[in-house]
Amino acid sequence: MSDFNLGLVGVGKIVRDQHLPAIAATQSCNLIATADPHASLADLPAYQGLEAMLDAHPEITAVAICTPTHLRYSQARAALMRGKHVLLEKPPGATLSEVEDLIACAKKQGVSLFAAWHSRFAPGVAQAQQWLEERQVQRVEIEWKEDVRVWHPGQAWIWQPGGMGVFDPGINALSIATAILPQPFFLQQARLLVPSNAQTPIAAKLSFTDPTGAEIEADFDFRQSGPPTWDMHIETDEGCLSLTKGGCRLVINDEVIIETEEREYQGLYARFAELIANRRSEVDVAPLRQVADAFLYGHRETTDAFVE
Ligand code: NAP
Repeated sequence: MSDFNLGLVGVGKIVRDQHLPAIAATQSCNLIATADPHASLADLPAYQGLEAMLDAHPEITAVAICTPTHLRYSQARAALMRGKHVLLEKPPGATLSEVEDLIACAKKQGVSLFAAWHSRFAPGVAQAQQWLEERQVQRVEIEWKEDVRVWHPGQAWIWQPGGMGVFDPGINALSIATAILPQPFFLQQARLLVPSNAQTPIAAKLSFTDPTGAEIEADFDFRQSGPPTWDMHIETDEGCLSLTKGGCRLVINDEVIIETEEREYQGLYARFAELIANRRSEVDVAPLRQVADAFLYGHRETTDAFVE
């Protein structure tokens, strides 16, 4: 596979936790430089912004945009207009309209745009999708709960418009559900609990249905203490499938099919390399559309102020 030279935009938690080890494991990816107003990485050229990084390193052929979501569009567009391939951290944008414009822009420029739904690369997802393909889903229960103070320390942007609050992790569950469920599903009801000092929910309960009448219930909560719960249980006409631990454990009718450690970002970079090599784009807005629907149609209730 042909090599690509990467610039990282935003050097925060997800870059340090996930992108760096995955890049190191991707032979065809050469990390050239970073752009971040304050943060940098040892032994790597660092710039305060995307344009400065691209000006200094014309050899960069691709960028990964890992900044807070409200910055995604302007940075991605600037990179696309300079003929760079672009990996968008999830969510791919703050609004659906801006993502549509990025798709058009990438097409016009003849470069690859990749909306990287990392949870879809969890070990059990592909097999869950295959097993469910032929079955009639009757009921789905999704529980996606984590401690915001552990997983998003100091991230004030998450409480601002575009930050999505609990939908920042919740969209990971929706990225899996939209990939593995054999039918499209639609929001029926949503209850969004918003802290009195925030613009985005700290918890959300969602009820969906599909064209066959299956019930899909999702419970997202940032107020979890202790280990996270990232589970979904799917009842079908031929038994039960459980995808738990964020997709690392797959159980079908009480038989453990997959139980392994998480390595989503290696798969994600391998896909980006493949897309670049084939000059293709992959941008599925289905998870973002579900979140937009929840904001459009949900009941909003005010709850206690959030104190970090
Ligand atoms: P983060 O820790 O806040 O990191 C974001 C970084 O971007 C910070 O270093 C920030 O600097 C920097 N930044 C701000 N403005 C910038 C600009 N104009 N140009 C370049 N860099 C800029 O956030 P994160 O957790 O890494 O999340 C980043 C994105 O990845 C989010 O969209 C999130 O949804 C997604 N993601 C996060 C996780 C997770 O578990 N944390 C998992 C998967 C995906 P300052 O702090 O100085 O503003």
